[in-house]
Amino acid sequence: MTTIFAKIVSGELPSKMVYQDELVTAFRDINPIAPTHILIVSNKIIPTVNDLTEDDEKITGRMMTVAKKLAEEEGIAESGYRLIINCNGHGGQEVFHLHMHLVGGRPLGPMLYHQK
Ligand code: AMP
Repeated sequence: MTTIFAKIVSGELPSKMVYQDELVTAFRDINPIAPTHILIVSNKIIPTVNDLTEDDEKITGRMMTVAKKLAEEEGIAESGYRLIINCNGHGGQEVFHLHMHLVGGRPLGPMLYHQK
C-alpha cells in the first residue's frame, strides 16, 4: 500500500520540498493555514501515531529536530510556532502517513476552542 506522501517522498509526485534525509522528508502544505506551514513526514509509511513502536523512536526524534531546524530557517523560532500531529477521526487526520505540521508566522490563537 502506498500513500500520497510516499509518492512525494520518492519524487513521484511534485512538492515544494524543503528538507530530506534518510528518515524524514519535509515539504510545504498544499493548503497552508499560516505563512509557514510545513509537513514533516516519515519516509517509511507509518499510518498513525497508534502504529509507532520503539523501533521508530529515531524517526520521531528526527521529526522534532528537523522541525526545530526548519523553524529557525523560516525565521519563526523566536516568535513561536506550533507542532501538530493529528491521529484518526477525532484528531482530524486526513492522510494516513505519519506527519507533523510545523505552523507559524502569525499568532495562532488558543490551541483548541471550548465546545459550545
Ligand atoms: P492531516 O489532517 O493531519 O492528515 O493533514 C493532512 C495535510 O496534508 C493537510 O493539511 C493537507 O493540506 C495536506 N496535503 C494533502 N495533500 C498534499 C500534497 N499533495 N502536498 C502537500 N500537502 C498536502
